[in-house]
Amino acid sequence: MKFSKDIAELLNEPACEHNKKEKSGCAKPKPGSTAGGCAFDGAQIALLPIADVAHIVHGPIACAGSSWDNRGTRSSGADLYRIGMTTDLTEQDIIMGRAEKRLFHAIKQAVESYHPPAVFVYNTCVPALIGDDITAVCKAASEQFAVPVVPIDCAGFYGTKNLGNRIAGDAMVEYVVGTSEPAPAPAHASMKIHDVNLVGEYNIAGEFWHVLPLLDELGLRILCTLSGDARFNEVQTMHRAEVNMMVCSKAMVNVARKLNKLYGTPWFEGSFYGITDTSQALRDFAKNLNDPDLTERTEKLIAREEARIRELLLPWKQRLNGKRVLLFTGGVKSWSVISALQDLGMVVVATGTKKSTEEDKARIRELMGEDTLMIEDGSPKALIKIVHDYQADILIAGGRNMYTALKAKIPFLDINQEREFGYEGYQGMLELVKQLTLTIESPVWQAVRTPAPWKIPLNSSLQKGDVDSLLS
Ligand code: SF4
Repeated sequence: MKFSKDIAELLNEPACEHNKKEKSGCAKPKPGSTAGGCAFDGAQIALLPIADVAHIVHGPIACAGSSWDNRGTRSSGADLYRIGMTTDLTEQDIIMGRAEKRLFHAIKQAVESYHPPAVFVYNTCVPALIGDDITAVCKAASEQFAVPVVPIDCAGFYGTKNLGNRIAGDAMVEYVVGTSEPAPAPAHASMKIHDVNLVGEYNIAGEFWHVLPLLDELGLRILCTLSGDARFNEVQTMHRAEVNMMVCSKAMVNVARKLNKLYGTPWFEGSFYGITDTSQALRDFAKNLNDPDLTERTEKLIAREEARIRELLLPWKQRLNGKRVLLFTGGVKSWSVISALQDLGMVVVATGTKKSTEEDKARIRELMGEDTLMIEDGSPKALIKIVHDYQADILIAGGRNMYTALKAKIPFLDINQEREFGYEGYQGMLELVKQLTLTIESPVWQAVRTPAPWKIPLNSSLQKGDVDSLLS
C-alpha cells in the first residue's frame, strides 16, 4: 500500500516546470475524472508494451477487462503482453481473506505456463483497500519461482492516469533498471556506437519503426525504449545509456530525472512528429553526445531525408495547403502535432489543452502565437461549435470524439493511441498526409450533407429527373 508521502513525492515531481515555481503538484483528480483513466490504467498503459513480461492485474475482473489492450502498441516478436491476466477477485476471496493467496497462485500459473523473464503485478483499488501486501507476495513468489516479480502499486484511487505513469516509471527504476548489463556495443569500422534510451515511446501502430533505421544509420544503439516494443532485459540495462530522450512530454519524466540523479545520464525532451521536430530530435542526440563526427553525419542525414520527404510530400501538400484544422488532443501531441501540420501548410485554428502542462502551453504559444485559442472544454457541443465558428475542415482528436464528429458530419482523424497508422519520423509524415487527404476529400461528406430525397419539399424546384438521380 502506497503511503501518502510517496504519492505526494510523485505529484511534486521536481522536473515539472510548475513545481519549480511553486509546490502546486500535478493535476489532482476531481470527482468523475476517472473517466479519463485511473492510476492503475496509467501504470498499465505505461508498462504493458514490455512484450515478453507476464502482466497480472490483481483485482476484480473489470479492472483488467476495461483496460486491456487499450493502446495500439506493436511488438516485433514476443507477444505475451497480449494475454490478459488477472486474479479475478470475487466477494468470496475478500470475505474469506484469500486474495493474497490467489495472487501467489496466479504468479505460479503465469510462470509455469509461459516461462516469462519477469512478472509484473498491478495493484488495484479493492486489494489496496483490504490491505493486501503485494510487495511481500511478489518477494515470496520471486524467491519461490526464481523469476523477478515486480510489484506495481498503482491502485486507481491513488490519483490520475498521469500519476499512474509515474508510479510505473518509479517501479522500473526501483526494481528493474541496473539489474543486468547490456551486451558490449558492436565494433564499427567507421563510427563510434553510442548507447541511448527513449523514455515514453510507445511504438503506437509500429510508428517507431519509421525512426529506428535512422538511429541505426547514425550509430545510435537503442538500449531500451520504455516501453514500446521493449523486452524486460532491455529495461534492466537502461542505466548504461549515454543519453535519454523523453519522448512523451512529462508522462515518465521522473524516470529521466532519477536516471540522471543515480547514473548521471543527461536527458532531453523531444518529439518525432513532423519534419522539424524529427530533425531537432536527431540534432539533440548529437549535441548531448558531444561527438563532432556524429554531428556531421546527422546533418548529412537530415539534409538527405528532408529533401527526400519534401519531394514525396509535394503532391499531397498542394491538396492540403490552407486547410483548417481543429486539433483536440492532450499532452505532448497538443504542440508536436501542430508543428507537423504547419509543415504541411495547414492552419491550426485551435488546440485542446485539457491534459497539457504549462510547458506544453508555452510551446503552443510559441508555434501559434499569443492569441491562439486553447480549448479546455472538450464536450461534443463545444467542439462542434468551434468547428463551425472557425470553419475547420477537419477535427483531429482521440477516438472518443469520433462519434461526435461523424454525427455532426465533420471529417475526423484519430490521433490517439488506438489509431491504426503510425505518424512518427519523416516517413510517418507521408502516412499523415495520406490519411488527412483521404479523410478530407472523401466523397462521403458530400453525400451525407446532401438532404435525403424524402426530405426535399414537394414544391421544391427540383425536377423529377433530379429526384430520380438522387434516389439512384
Ligand atoms: S483500479 Fe480502481 S478506479 Fe481503476 S479500474 Fe480498477 S476499480 Fe476502477
